[in-house]
Amino acid sequence: MNNFLCPKCKGHLRVGDHIIFKVKNDLKQSALLLLSPQIGNYSSVKHPSFEFNQGEVLEFYCPLCNATLKSDIHPNLALILMKDEEGKGFAVYFSKVAGEHSTYETDGESVRVTGENAGLYTYFKVGDKFKKYL
Ligand SMILES: [Zn+2]
Repeated sequence: MNNFLCPKCKGHLRVGDHIIFKVKNDLKQSALLLLSPQIGNYSSVKHPSFEFNQGEVLEFYCPLCNATLKSDIHPNLALILMKDEEGKGFAVYFSKVAGEHSTYETDGESVRVTGENAGLYTYFKVGDKFKKYL
């Protein structure tokens, strides 16, 4: 089982079969959003009272320390950390744009790209920026 952690407080964001985020929509309404820990599974769970439109850029926050999860490599990408069963660390970048499916996993050397919209953000360099989180 892979664990997912906040890059700031290193708190566990995965509970059971969900990764839990605090998000804000364009109207600055806050809510909890649950995503799948399976990379490439873009299903999400939210309360029906929280609404956003396809194409809207959501802001993602750590529900534990409230830190923004925005990455410094692209304004549309969020960053969390993943640790696999052997304890190896990866950075996971994913699109904050509702309906956009792009995920990048990197160990600082190679990048694994997932999602049909992943071609939107392939020009960035992740190596050195990720290493500071290890
Ligand atoms: Zn945190």
